[in-house]
Amino acid sequence: MKTFDEYVALAGEAHGHICAGQILGLRMAVYGMELLGIEDPGGKDRKRVVTFVEIDRCATDAIPIVTGCRLGKRALKFRDFGKMAATFCDLSNGRAVRIAALESSKQRAREMYPEMANKNQQQMRAYREMTTDELFCVQWVRVQLGPEDFPGYKGERHICAECGEGISFERQVTQAGRVLCRGCAGERYYE
Ligand SMILES: [Zn+2]
Ligand SMILES: [Zn+2]
Repeated sequence: MKTFDEYVALAGEAHGHICAGQILGLRMAVYGMELLGIEDPGGKDRKRVVTFVEIDRCATDAIPIVTGCRLGKRALKFRDFGKMAATFCDLSNGRAVRIAALESSKQRAREMYPEMANKNQQQMRAYREMTTDELFCVQWVRVQLGPEDFPGYKGERHICAECGEGISFERQVTQAGRVLCRGCAGERYYE
């Protein structure tokens, strides 16, 4: 693991600025690695971790800086729940831990640095210093991951009977005997 300051510098470069969300995401990911006993997520343990994130905000950009998990490597999974939470999975033993930021952490930041008028500055400072108990709620969980969830999965490619587009990774849906993509099956996010 790198030092926290090294992670902050890398996160700032990748995200374009340093903000309270970045600090929170870094703390979350470092804590996740600690709880799982993963010492070198960017190096020798880099194929050991899959991370699920539940929000697309600043913190989400910071998490891969620590875990090395990237969307394009299928090691970062996005679930749009709008929650400041992430689950870190250790593929070597099936252990997984979900870490959620506590709502009370914002109030705690106000209590710690009431003299700081800038909320982002106040939270950035406080989130660095707060204990993990003050920042996070932790649950040990089980995450079902199939072979189709990993990089390099060589499964059959399916063709949607409606739009004709190819579908990888067993993400097709069968409706009334027809093989459809998730869009044509009713999950379309565009019109
Ligand atoms: Zn930010
Ligand atoms: Zn389709």
